Amino acid sequence: METTNPYGETKAMSERILKDTAKANEDFGVSLLRYFNPVGAHESGLIGEDPNGIPNNLMPFITKVGKGELDKLYIFGNDYDTVDGTGVRDYIHVVDLAEGHVAALENLNPGINIYNLGTGKGTSVLEMVDAFKKVNKVDVPYEIVQRRKGDIAKSFADVSKAEKDLKWKAKRGIEEMVRDAWRFENS
Ligand code: UDP
Repeated sequence: METTNPYGETKAMSERILKDTAKANEDFGVSLLRYFNPVGAHESGLIGEDPNGIPNNLMPFITKVGKGELDKLYIFGNDYDTVDGTGVRDYIHVVDLAEGHVAALENLNPGINIYNLGTGKGTSVLEMVDAFKKVNKVDVPYEIVQRRKGDIAKSFADVSKAEKDLKWKAKRGIEEMVRDAWRFENS
């Protein structure tokens, strides 16, 4: 499998270990879950993500800017071949992702199965910023800067196998993601 950065390589390596384990042990069922971009928080506002220091990922960075803890968001490039030039990703609500795990355990088949857990839908950085501002009624100043090394233009999932085999589908959209991320940040 081709990877584009060391982080990706850690995932590929873990998959190889699990595949070898399943090959060596016929009783083993292995489901490899490939996460796309998990964001948001539990609807209660009680469980969420609070990274230490300056966040690396888009959503926690936006929430810190929304709160005024960081001055502005730096958007890494607007010259990609995408809808508005900014990077496109398949964001998935973290509760949908959790439900995907339960579905994977309930529908565990023998051998090795690989499932993409995403929504199948791409959202650009600017679309995410706009949704956050609109839903949460908060300003998110930003500046366009250089591309980030190692980033690709777009990434989104083909979720057909997960939907078919796991009888699972992501139910929550971008509005729920930005609403719940903001609720957690303020609770
Ligand atoms: N991004 C950005 N500014 C940031 C963080 C991320 O413009 O401060 C962009 C990044 O270039 C990518 C998208 O937001 O197009 C998602 O990045 P993230 O790091 O959240 O996830 P990745 O897809 O890189 O794992």
